[in-house]
Amino acid sequence: MNSALAYQQAADTILAAEALLIGAGAGMGVDSGLPDFRGPQGFWRAYPVFHGRRFEEISNPVWFHRDPEQAWGFFGHRLNLYRTTAPHAGFEILRHWGQRCPKGYFVFSSNVDGHFQQANFEPERVLECHGSIHYLQFTRPCSEAIWSAEAITIGVNADTIRARPRLPRCPQCGGLARPNVLMFADGHWVPGRYEGQENHYQRWLAGLNRKRSCYRQSPLSTKPAQYQGGKR
Ligand SMILES: [Zn+2]
Repeated sequence: MNSALAYQQAADTILAAEALLIGAGAGMGVDSGLPDFRGPQGFWRAYPVFHGRRFEEISNPVWFHRDPEQAWGFFGHRLNLYRTTAPHAGFEILRHWGQRCPKGYFVFSSNVDGHFQQANFEPERVLECHGSIHYLQFTRPCSEAIWSAEAITIGVNADTIRARPRLPRCPQCGGLARPNVLMFADGHWVPGRYEGQENHYQRWLAGLNRKRSCYRQSPLSTKPAQYQGGKR
């Protein structure tokens, strides 16, 4: 199929759609200028200081215990990057497409950058299956509390990617806080916020005419959109 025909078919499908489910992964942020950490080379280009180590190794809650300044350096640097980067124009285009569908849209994203909310997508229509860097929790949950990182600023040395004290603390017990991001080998992620989003998502799905469901890959994404239905 030539690309002109493929775009026309995609446009026709979206135009006739009852609802739009937007699946997003790291590729979505590339045009905003965000790194997607694809493969070790991609990770090391973004963070040369971690050369020889893998993303899965660094994005691991164990560092909040072993070396909190490194752990918060990595996540604090990303928090600052996501806060200061504007979502690209494709977000607004997708939002308009979704808003004109009779049953609206829903976003299923594995990104933790909060860029759909930043691009004015309704928070009740976004599911972040890996959590969000804009929210915090305790390192070893003393409670199931999740709170906004809005008031938090983290200074990070750009060369060493190490955070400068003082690091975020749990308001209840004073212990070290961490992002409410589902990391690798993460047994302590607090899923409460995700579960609320999952409820919104299931309610939205239940209101659709499932017989007409059709999932197509968006030509805007650089990698196939992944549909992950149901509970993990
Ligand atoms: Zn606590």
